[in-house]
Amino acid sequence: MNDMASLGTVVFIGIGLIGGSLASAIRQAGVADKIIALDQSVQALTEAQDRGIIDQATDWAGLVEADVIVLAVPVDAFYPICQQLARLSLKKGVVITDVGSTKGSVLEAVEQAFGHIPGYFVPAHPIAGREQSGIAAAEADLFVQHKVILTTLPNTDDRALGIVSRMWHATGAMVTYLSIRDHDEVLGATSHLPHVLAYLLVDMLNQDLHHEEIFTYAAGGFKDFTRIASSSPIMWRDVCIHNADVLKALLGQYRQRLKVFEQLLEAHDGQSIEEIFQRAKLARDVHYQRELPL
Ligand code: NAP
Repeated sequence: MNDMASLGTVVFIGIGLIGGSLASAIRQAGVADKIIALDQSVQALTEAQDRGIIDQATDWAGLVEADVIVLAVPVDAFYPICQQLARLSLKKGVVITDVGSTKGSVLEAVEQAFGHIPGYFVPAHPIAGREQSGIAAAEADLFVQHKVILTTLPNTDDRALGIVSRMWHATGAMVTYLSIRDHDEVLGATSHLPHVLAYLLVDMLNQDLHHEEIFTYAAGGFKDFTRIASSSPIMWRDVCIHNADVLKALLGQYRQRLKVFEQLLEAHDGQSIEEIFQRAKLARDVHYQRELPL
């Protein structure tokens, strides 16, 4: 039994992989009185109810019951959803939070819809996920030992922040903080750029004349590198569009690196190539030492 004060009624807008996993985790931790969901997919709502993840499905009218509202839809859907929320008479003391992979664009959508960013809106992004999407892939332990980044603003309400932090602690996640800008730049580099590179590589090779042989004889390294290209194209389309400036800058840097590498190949400069590989290997080994086999 959890001794944390209850979150009350938690309403999820979007009950797919992330919404469904968070709902399962807080259900398992016993920290909500009631869990409700609104989703455009009737199938997702039915499965969430059948699996006991939510108590009931709702429409917009049901949002007035909410003590906590979690936005867990692709980031392009945030603006129309926030417009709907802004029109409702939500409960006094309501807390709204999200799980979106981009933060600058989410806050822009919130600001445009509400006319300001309410202090009770606490932006959040769990750094956990899977290649599969939808409620079928949702798991209660998805966030255990994973970081969740809160990108608070100077006007973020302390009580709302406390409630969202407690919700994430209950899932086994580690709560961390970044500024909005740092979040979008860091995640752009470590998550958004690698997804783009993986998608482009698989698409390029798939259009090669020998694509059957390429995929048949691919080794483990290729599969590891391209695993993330199995992720939801809709979610990643939205992430790219909503963090486009950061991504364009990173692609520029990467293009520069490719150009230098081509020149080294042209010059048969094995020593410089090895130096780059040594530097990269050292950096990776140092940062991810814990993941090396014992
Ligand atoms: P998902 O599995 O596809 O779930 C999203 C759910 O929202 C689906 O049931 C979808 O229905 C529904 N939906 C979409 N637009 C809607 C709308 N306008 N109104 C009501 N329901 C709507 O996606 P997810 O992977 O959970 O991603 C949700 C959010 O989490 C995104 O903002 C993403 O950036 C963020 N995130 C994802 C990951 C990850 O690894 N997947 C990790 C961290 C954060 P349909 O199936 O009918 O579209």
